[in-house]
Amino acid sequence: MIKPLVVGGEFKEYMVHLIPEGGLNSMPKLYTDGLMVVGDAAGLVNAMHREGSNLAMLSGKLAAETVLEARAEKDFSARMMSRYEKRLMESVIGADLRKYRRAPHFFESSPHLFSLYPQLLNDAAAEFITVDGVSKREKQWKIIGMARKRRSLLGMARDLWGAWRSLP
Ligand SMILES: Cc1cc2nc3c(=O)[nH]c(=O)nc-3n(C[C@H](O)[C@H](O)[C@H](O)COP(=O)(O)OP(=O)(O)OC[C@H]3O[C@@H](n4cnc5c(N)ncnc54)[C@H](O)[C@@H]3O)c2cc1C
Repeated sequence: MIKPLVVGGEFKEYMVHLIPEGGLNSMPKLYTDGLMVVGDAAGLVNAMHREGSNLAMLSGKLAAETVLEARAEKDFSARMMSRYEKRLMESVIGADLRKYRRAPHFFESSPHLFSLYPQLLNDAAAEFITVDGVSKREKQWKIIGMARKRRSLLGMARDLWGAWRSLP
């Protein structure tokens, strides 16, 4: 479908990539001699709040501050570059990464959160607003029954506990 629309077009830049949503536990080493890693390359994305560009800009600023110090002290060793990581972890980026450090694993290991609950909410909403002569209390029990049928109480408790631990 796309091909005829871009035929004859000139390739300017490759600009597509996955969003690195792994969080704190998936980040690579952020520095070495003469080098610091910022933005997406460092895995600096807050998937919960759909943020990445602001983390890229702030990490760039913190890296630049480190470069200024390195220039002043004529020292571009890994020890000097490590000041960037310290700055990063002490900034709002570090605070947010720590807050959601368990979230990526929680969501990755709970794929039903993306199918079962949205479907359940959809069906519950449909039941709730359908005018069909069924009493509202009956509808309420129907919805509770619908939920119990699709996920055990223990399963729901597990999901709640996982969410509580991952998204405090
Ligand atoms: C679909 C989508 C939606 C998003 N929505 C949001 C949002 O709503 N809010 C938000 O804050 N963030 C959002 N993000 C995330 C945000 O775009 C990124 O976190 C941010 O752009 C990262 O900036 P960056 O400079 O680290 O990397 P990039 O913006 O990816 O910049 C890297 C640059 O390096 C270039 N490059 C790569 N390899 C080479 C090479 N070998 N030589 C030279 N150049 C190279 C690339 O072409 C690119 O221009 C979204 C991302 C995607 C993919």
